[in-house]
Amino acid sequence: MTQAQMPLPPRDSLSLLEQLTSGAVVVTHSGQIIYGNPAFCQLAHRDADGLKACQLSSILSLPPNGDCALCLGAEASEAELSTLHGGFLQVENANDAPETLRVKIKHSPLGSEWMICLIDPFSEDTTLTQAHSDFVSTVSHEFRTPLTSIKGFADTLLHYSAQLPDDEKRRFLNIIKDQADRLIRLVENLLTASKLGASRVEMTFRPVPLKRMLEKVLHSVQAKTQSKSNQERRFELHVQPANLEVWADSDRLEQVLLNLVDNAVKYSPASSIVRVRANLVPEDENAIAIQVQDEGAGIPEALLPQIFTKFYRVESPLKQEVEGTGLGLYITKSLTTAMGGRISAKSTEGQGSTFTVLLLAATPQRQEAYRRTLYAAQGGDE
Ligand code: ADP
Repeated sequence: MTQAQMPLPPRDSLSLLEQLTSGAVVVTHSGQIIYGNPAFCQLAHRDADGLKACQLSSILSLPPNGDCALCLGAEASEAELSTLHGGFLQVENANDAPETLRVKIKHSPLGSEWMICLIDPFSEDTTLTQAHSDFVSTVSHEFRTPLTSIKGFADTLLHYSAQLPDDEKRRFLNIIKDQADRLIRLVENLLTASKLGASRVEMTFRPVPLKRMLEKVLHSVQAKTQSKSNQERRFELHVQPANLEVWADSDRLEQVLLNLVDNAVKYSPASSIVRVRANLVPEDENAIAIQVQDEGAGIPEALLPQIFTKFYRVESPLKQEVEGTGLGLYITKSLTTAMGGRISAKSTEGQGSTFTVLLLAATPQRQEAYRRTLYAAQGGDE
């Protein structure tokens, strides 16, 4: 079809785009440009006529993973269409020399025949604004869900208490308590994250018996899972040697391990096994490795570095189903680092993930130093 024969979007849609300060192009589903607004022409250093009939892909490099709406064409879903992508735009600078500009691209359908692409230069501020709006929407969702449930069950108890059997009332009260606990966890996580941001977390190091600590963590995740879904999870725990002691802040270590085991349970099927192992690192007897391994959905390898970022959650159907704020791993990594340790993750999609935390071992010297501090604190003299 020649340019002259090609149907154009309604005139009023185009005149709206004329006014936009963002660059906007209208493309057919095969990616042919049929219109570029003045802001886009200025950004790309091209004139409007020169743009027409040219393929968008000849001037714009799309995300390499191919999940961009422009690659999917008419099959793209609403969610994919509103996704923000990064890309590179070929522009000509003032000396007519070719240059590449980093841009952010947003797509939206225009009728059934065309798509509008909004294209703006990328700036760090954009990332911050995006992170901020992700934060607000995640946190408000995470607050609203338990609050709605607490209010609903409290209302029912207030109005129908006389008609309800005792075990039903107890069930409702348990739900209210679980949801209140969830809110407390959320507020604690937000507080810890903000303290970590301001480097205000205090640590009290001491030798912590690892087997007892891990048993406590597994017990508490089991209790939480059972109260939520009435399902028991299968755990395997190996601590070698059994009297292994780690040099850490006990409460912070518990938080790190709770987050990892909690995630392993959240992101894997109820019938699968979560394995937890702890041992001395063979090549460094001053270090202890703790591994939490699940048989869950896994994480795409390319996204592994991002999972430790504040508020980051992997885009997947699980994100909607599973409670979360994207704070757990940020807190886990920050606390591990503050205790002198390191954390890493390995994952195979569809097969599961393994998180490994390396921490300092409570060596005899550290145990002795701790014993002396305790003795001195009790007023003793060495
Ligand atoms: P959340 O509160 O969302 O669980 P986290 O910071 O703990 O936040 O984890 C960040 C994201 O990393 C999660 O949203 C999830 O997408 C992914 N993730 C973390 N642990 C696992 C795991 N064991 N298996 C699969 N995905 C995981």
